[in-house]
Amino acid sequence: SAAIEHSIPKSLHSFLASPKQLLIDGKWVDAVSGKTFDVFDPATDQVIAQAAEGDAADVDLAVAAARRAFDLGPWSKLTASDRGRLIWKIGDLIEANADELAQLETIDNGKPLGVAKAADVALAADMFRYMAGWATKIEGNTIPLNVPYAPGSQFHAFTLKEPVGVVGQIIPWNFPLLMAAWKLGPALATGCTVVLKPAEQTPLSALRLGELILEAGIPSGVVNIVTGFGETAGAAIASHPDVDKVAFTGSTEVGKLIINAATGNLKKVTLELGGKSPNVVYDDADLGMAIAGAADAIFFNQGQVCSAGSRLFVQKGIYDDVVAGISEIAKNMKVGSGFDATTQMGPLVSREQFKRVTGYLQAGIAEGAEASAGGAALDRPGYFVQPTVLKHASENMSVVREEIFGPVVAAMPFGDDSELIGKANNSSYGLAAGIWTRDISKAHRLAKSVKAGTVWINCYSIFDAALPFGGYKQSGWGREMGHAALENYLQTKSVCVKL
Ligand code: ADP
Repeated sequence: SAAIEHSIPKSLHSFLASPKQLLIDGKWVDAVSGKTFDVFDPATDQVIAQAAEGDAADVDLAVAAARRAFDLGPWSKLTASDRGRLIWKIGDLIEANADELAQLETIDNGKPLGVAKAADVALAADMFRYMAGWATKIEGNTIPLNVPYAPGSQFHAFTLKEPVGVVGQIIPWNFPLLMAAWKLGPALATGCTVVLKPAEQTPLSALRLGELILEAGIPSGVVNIVTGFGETAGAAIASHPDVDKVAFTGSTEVGKLIINAATGNLKKVTLELGGKSPNVVYDDADLGMAIAGAADAIFFNQGQVCSAGSRLFVQKGIYDDVVAGISEIAKNMKVGSGFDATTQMGPLVSREQFKRVTGYLQAGIAEGAEASAGGAALDRPGYFVQPTVLKHASENMSVVREEIFGPVVAAMPFGDDSELIGKANNSSYGLAAGIWTRDISKAHRLAKSVKAGTVWINCYSIFDAALPFGGYKQSGWGREMGHAALENYLQTKSVCVKL
């Protein structure tokens, strides 16, 4: 049926109808060009809002505002304690507006409302609070010296940790609010100022967050938000001569463009990129738990998770049972509007993403994989695809090598550990891995052997503000979350005093 199967919650009407402007120097402004772009509801393919289309001219203004707030203050003049207090307040305001923020994620990204509230919004609030605590705990060291060519001299040497400066942050559409929080949290805690570019597919929650940031009392110019496209606004941030660091989350392909763009002024770069993460089920696993966990590892967030367990390796004796179990879950999943409380999987984020995922489904089947569940789009408006399990997958297929970023898992059998480790690491990516076994030694051995930034044992997709996340190999540079994230936003200055 062509009927629009949900209506936009009343509480969002006025926010969606108001002009969606850029946040520059504490004020909401139109793009210099006056241009806007359409924002879509992925469940209905309808336009729900217009956002300002920022480009290089707006990025220039935003960077200048961030530069002033960094160099002249007030941000740089606040005590760490005051900074921490303001960051904490952002967390409080996110929590106070949790329902509205979750609704914005659902209307803009498509994800189920309950997931948006329990995962995206709750984790975003927690990220600001976690990072608020770090503001007062950024310390250097005192360092004893032994200078061979200055015998008898005494020195007092120490390090200062200083914010890196003006930071450009470019984020994706899969967790729009949470990715903003992962980026802004450590930048603000360390005393940096920011130009943030949300993904063009999902600008809404970041703009609402911008309002909350002002409400929290974060001074003008500290956080600037420029909505717009990657090739224009994003590229202008990455190449800007007055941006000191760029932090990017997105595809590996664009990550390489960011590195190139950053060479002009050699700005610091951190990248959180794609993945094709192995999820391993041994024959001694708790099979009920492993099957449910493996399904969740790929179907969570419609599979639009950089760390999704998209390559499923199952030990030979239980391969058929595990594939049948996950296929059963896939077939019974309720796919629909994120506003329907019974929905387990929403639409993909965009028409482009829909084409990409359905293209992979066709390619995988043409290459000889067999869909034991799903395998096609849903025949309805919106960007819906079936949760899909591909069996008879092999290592040279595109669906096994390349990141699909959709609800598609490729299942492959393995015999022993050495075969498994070779296969699991046979990827240009190295973001995450899952291991399901009751054998604790085996689990730890494999955790050490797998080249991945995060290893989940008897669980999957567990994220916490305190737990570092990031990639080996072509999955990225640097870590987000945890205190590891702070280092990316700090310079170390050594000071040496002759006594
Ligand atoms: P996807 O292909 O999944 O949409 P992208 O890596 O293209 O992921 O997008 C992630 C973010 O990077 C978005 O905010 C997008 O606008 C931005 N982006 C895309 N291309 C560029 C580019 N050439 N330079 C800077 N940012 C870009």
